[in-house]
Amino acid sequence: MFKRETKNFINIDPLQTGGILTKEARETLMEWGDGYSICDFCQGRLDEIKTPPIYNFVHNDLPKFLGCDVARVTNGAREGKFIVMHSLALKTVKDAYVILDGNAHYSSYVAAERANLKVVEVPKTDYPDFRINVDTYAETIEETKKKGEVILSLLTYPDGNYGNLPNAKAIAKVCHEYDIPLLLNCAYAIGRMPVKMDKIDADFIVGSGHKSMAASGPIGVLGMKEDYAELVLRKSDKYKNKEVELLGCTARGATIMTLIASFPHVKKRVKDWDREVEKARWFAKKMEELEIVQLGDKPHNHDLMFFHAENLYEISRRVKGGRFFLYRELKAKKIHGIKPGLTRYFKLSTYMVPKEDLKYVLETFKEIIAKYLKGIKS
Ligand SMILES: *Cc1c(COP(=O)(O)O)cnc(C)c1O
Repeated sequence: MFKRETKNFINIDPLQTGGILTKEARETLMEWGDGYSICDFCQGRLDEIKTPPIYNFVHNDLPKFLGCDVARVTNGAREGKFIVMHSLALKTVKDAYVILDGNAHYSSYVAAERANLKVVEVPKTDYPDFRINVDTYAETIEETKKKGEVILSLLTYPDGNYGNLPNAKAIAKVCHEYDIPLLLNCAYAIGRMPVKMDKIDADFIVGSGHKSMAASGPIGVLGMKEDYAELVLRKSDKYKNKEVELLGCTARGATIMTLIASFPHVKKRVKDWDREVEKARWFAKKMEELEIVQLGDKPHNHDLMFFHAENLYEISRRVKGGRFFLYRELKAKKIHGIKPGLTRYFKLSTYMVPKEDLKYVLETFKEIIAKYLKGIKS
C-alpha cells in the first residue's frame, strides 16, 4: 500500500483541518467504498434514495442546516458555483457578467469561464487588511451594468487566503437593490461556523464537504431559494426525472456516505465556533510575540489566518538551502501544513487543533527563529 507520510503529523494545513474524517465516517468509508455501493435501491435519482437515507439528508437535514429552501449534493463547491452560473447564463444573450469579490477563489473564475461569462472584480483594500467593502461592491455593480448584464454576484465567505468575513448581509442588500442574485461561497464556512443563507438573505450558497464537513470527498453542497429551483434544477427532456445541471447524479458513492456519517458531529461542532475563534486569536497573538504578523481582519474571526514573517524571510535569504528551510524544520518536528518554499507570507489553520499541539507549534517557531538568527548574527 502507498503510505501517507503526514498522517500522524500535527496538521495546520487550511485545506485539511476541516476535512479530517470522524470515526464514523472512517468506518463508513470502508463499508461503502465499493463503486456505486449506494445504488442498490435507487429508483433513478440520487437524492431520492431512501436506503441508505440520502433522501432524508438532502431534503430535510441539509436545507435546514444551510437555511435554504432547496438543497442538493454536488461533487464540490466549484461544481455548485458552475451549476448556478451555467443555469443563469442560459437566460442571457451576450456580454453577461459575474461580479466576484477581489478575494475570490480561482475556482470561481474558472467556473465563470466555463459558463462563458465575463468576470469583473470588486477591488479589495490594500495591505494589511485586504478587506471587501460594501460601498465598493455597489460601485463595481454600477460600473459593470454600463457594460452589460450582470447576472450574478458572488461573495467568498470567508475567502481562502486571509479568512476575512465581509459584511455579507449588507452586500446581499446592495445586490438586491440592483436585482442581482448573490451566491455565497462558503467553502470555508459551512461545517465550521454557523452560517445560514436565509439570515444573510443570499440566493445561493455552496459548501465543500472535504474542506469543512469532515467528508472524504470530493463532495459539495448547494442550497438555493425556491424561486431558482425550477431553472437550476430543470429536468432533462428525454429522461424526465434527471436534473440536467447535475448530469443526472452527482456524488454517487462513498463520498456522500462519509458526508452523512459526519453530519451529526458537524452540526454539533459549529456550535463550538466561538471557542475556535478565541483559540485562533490567541494563536495569532502568540505569533505576533515572535514578530510574525497576522494580516486580514483584526481581531480575526476565523481559524484560517494569513501571516507575514519578515524574520523568517530574512533567514531564508541567508541560510544554505534557502527558502525551504522552514518546511524542512517543521517537517522534522512533524508539523504539516505550511507550503514548501514559503517563508515571508503563509497561511495556516488552527481549526480543531488541540491547544497543546498549537503550543508545540508556537514553541517550534520560536526555536527555529532563535536557532537561525544566532547563525546569521555570528
Ligand atoms: C477550497 C475552496 C474552494 C474549492 O472547494 P471544492 O469543494 O474543492 O470545489 C472554493 N472556494 C474557496 C474559497 C475555497 O477555499
